[in-house]
Amino acid sequence: MSGFVEKPVPVEVPGLTHLHTGKVRDLYATADGRLVMVASDRVSAFDWVLPTEIPDKGRLLTRLSLWWFERLADLTDNHVVSDTPPPGAPADWAGRTLVCRRLDMVPVECVARGYLTGSGLAEYRATGEVCGVPLPGGLVDGSRLEQPIFTPATKAEVGEHDENVSYATVAARHGEALAAELRERTLAVYERGRAVAEERGILLADTKFEFGRDPGGRLVLADEVFTPDSSRFWPAESWEPGHAQPSFDKQYIRDWLTSPASGWDRAAEVPPPPLPDEVVARTRDKYVEAFERLTGGSPDLG
Ligand code: ATP
Ligand code: MG
Repeated sequence: MSGFVEKPVPVEVPGLTHLHTGKVRDLYATADGRLVMVASDRVSAFDWVLPTEIPDKGRLLTRLSLWWFERLADLTDNHVVSDTPPPGAPADWAGRTLVCRRLDMVPVECVARGYLTGSGLAEYRATGEVCGVPLPGGLVDGSRLEQPIFTPATKAEVGEHDENVSYATVAARHGEALAAELRERTLAVYERGRAVAEERGILLADTKFEFGRDPGGRLVLADEVFTPDSSRFWPAESWEPGHAQPSFDKQYIRDWLTSPASGWDRAAEVPPPPLPDEVVARTRDKYVEAFERLTGGSPDLG
């Protein structure tokens, strides 16, 4: 079982049409054809959107994404139009709303991996490859890949897992030219991100981008970029290949949910319980720390 413990109710805003409620973000369309992405404080773990929110997560991740979009602007065009909520939006949308160009999305999750773990590791163990990319022998959980790899996936519904596919599959479905462009752009942006984050003590183990086409047919980076929701963040100082690395942001949540204290049985097909205040506070501190380490600035949450 998986999904929402409590399904969020979309806010009604005059002039906006609600399009979609994701695990973490709510999407609206404006009358003039823009997309409004509102990041909530929702958090997911073990495929569940938890019944407890992490205060300021939406603002921290929105600001981080924006910070990255600006730092990547020489490598890729992006979809951001403004971070000012549309007229009539609730006051608490400030700081967690991005107004974007509405693009024709390419239905490929463009994953780049610079370290081996998760579904990539599982595939490597079974076949020696990830998404058709052969890798050297002897790699273990958390190994660094000198040459980052493009490991696309097809998007799944809420609660389902994305399916890894090969570059050849993307090329067969979407054409060789688009596949090549996606791979090139994904790897260029990832390599920049990995290098920037590494200097600041965070390993961006892997990440997922989404691209769309503008009306002129140009490929534009969309969705969110290098946030802890779209990427694996590992603290550099404790990196040690050979076992699962602690997740920078969600470790306290996972540890608590799998501890006897939570009373939750992951295998029992029941929703997870609310998080205790202490776990919430420590997790929030981690999002703040990620923001501060990466940007070198204070999130100034007011
Ligand atoms: P998950 O929480 O697993 O990511 P989700 O993808 O359903 O679930 P969101 O990520 O919140 O939920 O949804 C964002 C949606 O908006 C995605 O379908 C994404 O492809 C789409 N999207 C992102 N940027 C744009 C854009 N500029 N134009 C059109 N659609 C976009
Ligand atoms: Mg998404």
